[in-house]
Amino acid sequence: MKHISSMTRPGNQPQKLAALKQAWQEWNNSPDVLIRLARRLATTLSLEDQLGVLAEEMADIVPFEAMMYRHTIARQEFVFRTGMGGPHRAEYRLNLEGELYGYLELHRRTRFSEEELEAIEVFIGAAICPIRNACRFIALEQMALTDTLTGVPNRRALDEDLGRICHLADRHNESHSLILVDLDHFKAVNDTHGHLIGDQVLRMSADGLTRTLRNSDRVYRFGGEEFAVLLPHTDAPHAREAAERIRLALASLALDRLVGAPLRITASCGVATHLAGEGPEQWLARADEALYRAKQAGRNQTRVFPAIG
Ligand code: GH3
Ligand code: MG
Ligand code: MG
Repeated sequence: MKHISSMTRPGNQPQKLAALKQAWQEWNNSPDVLIRLARRLATTLSLEDQLGVLAEEMADIVPFEAMMYRHTIARQEFVFRTGMGGPHRAEYRLNLEGELYGYLELHRRTRFSEEELEAIEVFIGAAICPIRNACRFIALEQMALTDTLTGVPNRRALDEDLGRICHLADRHNESHSLILVDLDHFKAVNDTHGHLIGDQVLRMSADGLTRTLRNSDRVYRFGGEEFAVLLPHTDAPHAREAAERIRLALASLALDRLVGAPLRITASCGVATHLAGEGPEQWLARADEALYRAKQAGRNQTRVFPAIG
């Protein structure tokens, strides 16, 4: 390891210390707009906050009616908009080292002058690195919450969402339901056709589940050959109907072409509707109990816990 003393050059250290102190004061209190912009952008990794700071600092020098930013990050559209449009527009592609980090548009009632356009480019130049970092952060967050095999949200995303939904359910006295879906005898699919075909079946199951549900419902890979579905604003009878639709959709997946021979899967479903005051673990445990009962009763069926008529 490199010894620290080999990195020090004490030569004119007192001057350097004084200069650093002064630079620190300037960094914090500078009237220089670019220093202030850089300092403010460095305080956050939130793309939304960064764009807010950029809009605020830029508007002080180049007034505009509206700013709009658009970028697709990890297959999701991110849009930031502040103010209302105007007929004149300045549009920029935010590029850094050959990578695109979104489109920025400024709108105004009057034309932008050449000097103003140059100033906007200076602002973008000063903001592009922090914006890239914020875009990468969103992509990483997205990756951490996504199952790599199926592309649907993973267990970690489910835990986050369950916590939030429990809170909402209690605050607004709403019904939210959870379905656990476990593929039946899936080990036999692997044993007969191999793990790669098993993976393919899991991907097609995730797609099939997603297609079966409403936009507001969310599918997660709970683990292994088990999926979870969160149905907001859904009571137990409607959740049971959704589970039955899921079961039928999985049973009718066209899997034959994967193996060139007849291949069908079935699934068992456990349904639990959130009870007042219940936390995520208790809620999940009830859905798991319902699933266990569906398996015990012979598989390829749905159970609700506690049972409903
Ligand atoms: P049951 O009806 O009781 O649910 O039977 P099962 O065979 O589905 O359940 P079991 O828990 O005995 O086995 C689960 C199987 O799922 C075994 C495991 O190899 C398979 N599995 C789990 N994750 C994956 C995966 O990512 N890819 C593949 N191909 N198989 C997986
Ligand atoms: Mg199974
Ligand atoms: Mg299982």
